[in-house]
Amino acid sequence: MFLGSASSPVSRAVFLGAAGVGETTIFIYVAALQHLMKRPSIIKTYCPFCGQHTEHDLKRVKKKKASEFKQGQRRFRRVTSGYRGYPRPKPQGDKPTKRIYLRYTCKECGKAHQKKGVRAKRFEFER
Ligand SMILES: [Zn+2]
Repeated sequence: MFLGSASSPVSRAVFLGAAGVGETTIFIYVAALQHLMKRPSIIKTYCPFCGQHTEHDLKRVKKKKASEFKQGQRRFRRVTSGYRGYPRPKPQGDKPTKRIYLRYTCKECGKAHQKKGVRAKRFEFER
């Protein structure tokens, strides 16, 4: 509830800017870039294998199709089968933003780890 009301003034401000209220042109520019996430392709971050901060190579990865043999997928199939049960109706439709999943490969030990994806409309690596 509160989050919804907090996000609506932003869209209203963008709408005002689009109508051409002069001073808001800079604001429109900022709003347009809001959904573009830029990340350097090499960052220094914590490596759980080395136990310290090291340089990491970043690579964008996509979620693979869920295996039908994994516990979560088996449970989902079991719960959604039949005429009762919670995850129903099955979620459908695209969300306006997608999670960006990055794979962090440590340059010291060569091992890779992943962090929780961050939602963004567009994603780019800085050069
Ligand atoms: Zn490492």
